[in-house]
Amino acid sequence: MAHVLTLNAGSSSLKFGFFKLGDATEDPEARIVGLMERIGPGERAHIKAKRQDGHVLIDQEYGRNHVADHSAALSRIVEFLREQRPEMRLAAVGHRVVHGGPDFDAPTELTPAVMERLAQFEPLAPLHQPPNLSGVRAALELFPDAGQVACFDTAFHRHHPWVNDTFALPRKFYDQGVRRYGFHGLSYQYIAETLKEIAPHLHMGRTIVAHLGNGASMCGLMGGRSVASTMGFTALDGLPMGTRCGQLDPGVILYMLQNEGMSPAEIEDVLYRQSGLVGLSGLSNDMRTLEAAGTEETRQAIDYFVFRIRRELGGLAAVLGGVSTLIFCGGIGENSAHIREKVCEGMGWLGLEIDEGRNLRGERMISTDFSRVRVLIIPTNEEIVIARAARDLVESKQGTVA
Ligand code: ADP
Repeated sequence: MAHVLTLNAGSSSLKFGFFKLGDATEDPEARIVGLMERIGPGERAHIKAKRQDGHVLIDQEYGRNHVADHSAALSRIVEFLREQRPEMRLAAVGHRVVHGGPDFDAPTELTPAVMERLAQFEPLAPLHQPPNLSGVRAALELFPDAGQVACFDTAFHRHHPWVNDTFALPRKFYDQGVRRYGFHGLSYQYIAETLKEIAPHLHMGRTIVAHLGNGASMCGLMGGRSVASTMGFTALDGLPMGTRCGQLDPGVILYMLQNEGMSPAEIEDVLYRQSGLVGLSGLSNDMRTLEAAGTEETRQAIDYFVFRIRRELGGLAAVLGGVSTLIFCGGIGENSAHIREKVCEGMGWLGLEIDEGRNLRGERMISTDFSRVRVLIIPTNEEIVIARAARDLVESKQGTVA
């Protein structure tokens, strides 16, 4: 019985999934999912992991400096998995890698040459790519015999029409890789595949997906393929997020540099960590906290979030030439009936109407029977997309051996 491990490394965190492989036609079966947080020198790391049925297997804090980097984090995670599953036989490791640059449009086996190419994209995603690659290096060291595959957040969007791939800058920037890559690709891929399974006729049509989590973006799909996304060169563009600003006039950055005398590092901190919902509310990046607070600032933060979603919805509908399905996913999209209601309010002009009761109950289909646009809630699952890619790698190697 073979297993695959999925890894999703953030700057100070490492999310993992442990899956059992069945035969080639079966989906990998999630057995354990978990998260190690506060990885770094001087920190007290924390691990929490659950079985698929929600039973908590570990919830533990380590001593200071016990988990100083991703390599130490992975060793601890593997120790824990071996205790839980002594029969563990890891055939492959699947990694979430945020940036595949202009080249990679599909999961790719991690060879030294691929690693070298991916390291060149670090300046394109300075907050995400370096920790992603640290996670890969740690896994390569620990499991030299397992196959290792990278799954890119950008890959799903790589075949955008040129107008959705470029900025109106001098051409040399495009050639250097300054393009609209789009992110959350693993989530959109999962949603597109699930829609194909549950409603093939809708999958063929024009779909808008709103991935609303701590990170948030929207994607327009035609026949299951990404045509346009709200995120651009980095994961800052488009919708406001928990702590990120979303769409911004680039002149604001010049103002910060020239008039406020801010350094690039200070500006980066404002745009990535102090803006969005937390910046506008002055309270929290967490939608639950904002919904519960009910102050003027928190209401305004929510109003701005909703306003931008509605604006992008209209824009994407125009790009697609109409819309047959709207899908909500992500922590907010899946759980907040209030946000879904506000996003869909007064959208009759688009042929979109949701049913109050279905929305409140969080049913899979929340549109009314008369709504021309079907509105669905589909809980996203990026881990399974990575696990499938790892399984495919195992299958392809077995095929080669045979
Ligand atoms: P990430 O992008 O980090 O994966 P998630 O997809 O987990 O984020 O989404 C986190 C967001 O979802 C937080 O803002 C959280 O408040 C919000 N959320 C989760 N459950 C609810 C709920 N029941 N109502 C409103 N917001 C919720």
